[in-house]
Amino acid sequence: MMTLTGGCLCGAVRYEIDYEGERGSTCHCAMCRRQSGGAFMGFVTVPRGHLRLTGELKTYRSSEIGLRSFCPNCGTPITMDYSFEDDRTGVVTGSLDDPEAVPPSLHWGAESMLSWLKLEDGLPRMTTDEDPEFVEALRRLGERDR
Ligand SMILES: [Zn+2]
Ligand SMILES: [Zn+2]
Repeated sequence: MMTLTGGCLCGAVRYEIDYEGERGSTCHCAMCRRQSGGAFMGFVTVPRGHLRLTGELKTYRSSEIGLRSFCPNCGTPITMDYSFEDDRTGVVTGSLDDPEAVPPSLHWGAESMLSWLKLEDGLPRMTTDEDPEFVEALRRLGERDR
């Protein structure tokens, strides 16, 4: 096991991850685009207990199933959690001290990928409705609301 370190732009939030080689992914959805201000976001999803944080985060519920955290001082996004993955947390790879340590293995939210973004990396691309876990979570939400 290796330790990854990271934190926010202003330095008020720092973290360590007990890293067991989890693969990274990107998300091209419109919410990640807005929160980051960039074309997409990268994540590495790890067991929640493997992330140790110092400093205060603020959270924002961006959808019924998504909870995002960020530094209240500088706004750097730090985590994105789905309610159907309560044992895991998605750490924003752009906040790692060495983002090269966790390259993506998949592009997610491919239906929202910007046309001017030219990624010729040969990685698989998955649309939101091709992800069984995500579709199942939305289905359960729909049932609850009925
Ligand atoms: Zn900060
Ligand atoms: Zn997203």
